[in-house]
Amino acid sequence: MKERARFCLACGARLRAVSEHGRRRRRCPRCGWTFYDNPVFASVAIICRRGRMLLAKRANPPYAGTWDLPGGFIEAGETPEAGMRRELREELSVGTRRLRLLGFATDRYGPAGFPVLTAIYRVTLAPGPIGSADDVSEVRWFPERKLPFRTIAFPSLRQALKTALSGTESTAGRSKRVRC
Ligand SMILES: [Zn+2]
Repeated sequence: MKERARFCLACGARLRAVSEHGRRRRRCPRCGWTFYDNPVFASVAIICRRGRMLLAKRANPPYAGTWDLPGGFIEAGETPEAGMRRELREELSVGTRRLRLLGFATDRYGPAGFPVLTAIYRVTLAPGPIGSADDVSEVRWFPERKLPFRTIAFPSLRQALKTALSGTESTAGRSKRVRC
């Protein structure tokens, strides 16, 4: 399922389906505005400490009440790294000491939502107590071998985590191997 814009964001006319470079788009017959369905950029963090990984419980839909990697959407004007640091401060009330890009995953936000491109970072937090705030209801350290895969929110991140921990390659998400 793909959610599609039905009306032009520029002039409000009803969009028409067109084909462009083999891809289906929606274009405004009045002013030419095109709905490209480009992905929104997000950054998430794999945070490990003494064999355990930090997961955050989602407070809001989609997937409210499920476990997720800490992180979130990048704001306009932010680099992925700056957005990562801001999100971790908002959600965990703690600073970021070091981050390293592991790979990318693609997904949809919500069962019929917009496309998301997620950068996955290995993050070392600054010292200090870790809290849960903003759109996170709880944080918990899970042993690396006992991650709650069945209740991890996004299919792409579930797959990326499995792939990263096992060191295998997958089409759903490519990332470097992770050892907690
Ligand atoms: Zn238009």
